[in-house]
Amino acid sequence: MNKEFKTSVSPCAVTDEELQLINKLTVKELSAEEVYTFNVILCDNEVDRDCERFDIAALEKMAVLFVGVTGIFDHNPGSGNQTARIFTAKCEKIPGKITSLGDEYICVKAKAYMPRTNKNADLIAEIDAGIKKEVSVSCSANSFTCSVCGNDIRHGNCGHIKGETYNGKLCHCVLSDITDAYEWSFVAIPAQVNAGVTKGYESKFRKTQDLIKAIKNGECVKFTRQQSREICDYISSLEKDAEDGRLFRKSLTEEVVKFALISVPSLDGESIEKMCAQTETRELMKLRDAFRTKAGEVIPLSPQLKAKKETKTVNNNEYKF
Ligand SMILES: [Zn+2]
Repeated sequence: MNKEFKTSVSPCAVTDEELQLINKLTVKELSAEEVYTFNVILCDNEVDRDCERFDIAALEKMAVLFVGVTGIFDHNPGSGNQTARIFTAKCEKIPGKITSLGDEYICVKAKAYMPRTNKNADLIAEIDAGIKKEVSVSCSANSFTCSVCGNDIRHGNCGHIKGETYNGKLCHCVLSDITDAYEWSFVAIPAQVNAGVTKGYESKFRKTQDLIKAIKNGECVKFTRQQSREICDYISSLEKDAEDGRLFRKSLTEEVVKFALISVPSLDGESIEKMCAQTETRELMKLRDAFRTKAGEVIPLSPQLKAKKETKTVNNNEYKF
């Protein structure tokens, strides 16, 4: 049984403990400098394209069985020699993430290593660049349960059909009792889409937002001229917004620094600026407001006093510098 899974690999640093795990699998002892490690999500409890879903016990079993299993990179020339190996795997909940069935999302997150050799250099660079890949896992399951009636769904045994809805519930096959994990492999999403596939996409995604969603999902999308223009217009409007945002943050930061220095003169302007750079815009606005209020207490502004003498109305604008 092969299962394809959309994922993204991400590089990770290796700890001493992990290095020990890796060295349990190697012939020659490797140092931290000699290994490259990365995260890979192998599968999850979401209903997949085949209307099948692993149950939690299956995921837990796979987290055990996939340790030590070799991964293949089928897109690289001479990939026969390029392999990575999983040295640790565990089931992980993603806080707040819910599956389409309303369950807590759980995935099998594994860490894999490969030696830092010249042969692997391109592949390592590719993973460092965060290129999305689809992972295919091969495993065997013994249990194929119908989500509607709980009977074995194979061979049309129970009469329910995967993908159909019964009483508002999607019928799918629950895979469990995993007996073996054979291999996992990366299938790079091809940069060029062949014409046959593209045709389907053209009618499928008409609106810009749908196109963007498809891109975000890592799908291969070929644009028509019209779609290209729409995407370009959209990017231009985003660029303008981004520029506005940058200008706003710049002046916001200047305000925070100014009010902070008035409020607490012992502060260092450069440090405040650095802190601002790491703060979300919304929080930065709150910070600006707080320091502005404080600064107003430390140095009451002369226009404010003048205004009070001349007129009884208090204009809040005069608190602003
Ligand atoms: Zn059934």
